[in-house]
Amino acid sequence: MLTHDAAVSKAREIAGSVLAPSAGPNDTAGRFSTEAVQSLGESGLLGLLLPADVGGVGLGPGAFADVTATLAEADASVAMVYVMHICAAATISAGTTHAVAPILQEIAAGRHLSTLAFSEAGSRSHFWAPVSRAQRNGDGVYISAKKSWVTSAGHAQSYVVSALAPEGAGPTDSTLYLVAAGTHGLSVAGPWDGLGLRANASAPVALNDCLVPADFQLTDDGAGFQAMLNVVLPLFNLGTSAVALGLCRAAVADTASHLKNAKFEHLGQSLGESLPNLRAQLAAMQIDTDGLSARIDDLVEHLEKPRETTMLRVLETKAAAGEIAIGVTSTAMRVCGGAAFSKHLSIERLFRDAHAGAVMAPTGDVLREFIGKSLLGIPLF
Ligand SMILES: Cc1cc2nc3c(=O)[nH]c(=O)nc-3n(C[C@H](O)[C@H](O)[C@H](O)COP(=O)(O)OP(=O)(O)OC[C@H]3O[C@@H](n4cnc5c(N)ncnc54)[C@H](O)[C@@H]3O)c2cc1C
Repeated sequence: MLTHDAAVSKAREIAGSVLAPSAGPNDTAGRFSTEAVQSLGESGLLGLLLPADVGGVGLGPGAFADVTATLAEADASVAMVYVMHICAAATISAGTTHAVAPILQEIAAGRHLSTLAFSEAGSRSHFWAPVSRAQRNGDGVYISAKKSWVTSAGHAQSYVVSALAPEGAGPTDSTLYLVAAGTHGLSVAGPWDGLGLRANASAPVALNDCLVPADFQLTDDGAGFQAMLNVVLPLFNLGTSAVALGLCRAAVADTASHLKNAKFEHLGQSLGESLPNLRAQLAAMQIDTDGLSARIDDLVEHLEKPRETTMLRVLETKAAAGEIAIGVTSTAMRVCGGAAFSKHLSIERLFRDAHAGAVMAPTGDVLREFIGKSLLGIPLF
């Protein structure tokens, strides 16, 4: 059984041998790394949070954050695939149905990748209010939905799908279902050609009268919203924050390396030796990166020992992480000047990847809106 340290060292091994060499070419080609997923599966990391009785590693949020940040330092696309998978696996595991046990065993054995299909073309980033509605069909349901972005689309073996409950009265009365990739009517509905995270296949997915058996209903009717808030949101916000941390660490390392190695030959000095303003900006990047790391540790501690302030920390950490990642990688772009701009360094990939976190729902704007409302005692929904 993997310990926390052993899990992180496996992630470091995979990051160095599988992710780092192909991150650049996969980004350029927009190619999903099946090798990365295979390595994560073989190492046991796909079942990191699953309980031991289904063969999982049984570790907690701290290990998830450290593994994710380690992967993101090498390739944020793969790290985001991992975050979506871990969130989906936790949702399947928290489900009320025993029929999914074989799927959890497959995940723990490293042979099954899952993901979340929440966002819809109709309700956009307001994932808590799907416009699709499940229709009763005997014990099961039919689902038709336009899912606007689904990470690992076409590569995952299953999708955790939200839809309004058949008899749901309000806009958040949703239910979560597990839809197997081969289900008739499910298809990837377009290409993925993003500014960043180009190698994570976040394409739209269409469901046309997909038949979902009663056994694959993951929550009670109308209880999808609670599962989104209680199971998915804490892990998703922690995971995206850890991706941001990995990106910041990579930006600091790549910037330091450039400042050491790029030379003013006429002065006989490296950029770093010659220019105090660049040293100061590198220092600011490091300060922000370590600040984010401390925030993530604080969130992990809150998730391990939940208390009144835990949900606030869940919201704050992702909001802060999105801005910090954009700020640190933007500074790296300026410090490394024309070399970064001309794509001689991997910093421009980090800069593009860093912009995804703030627009992935709950977006930074929505998080700040929720935090402000909650401080003023205004209902969030
Ligand atoms: C790389 C990537 C991967 C993704 N993967 C997945 C996935 O696996 N599964 C999934 O379900 N979804 C996924 N998404 C979708 C994502 O979670 C968001 O739903 C999507 O990015 C929203 O984009 P939009 O333009 O429709 O947002 P819009 O809702 O149109 O928002 C536009 C702007 O308005 C702001 N805004 C919206 N509502 C408010 C508000 N109430 N208060 C203040 N400002 C507001 C937003 O912050 C944003 O700046 C992914 C997105 C990306 C970019």
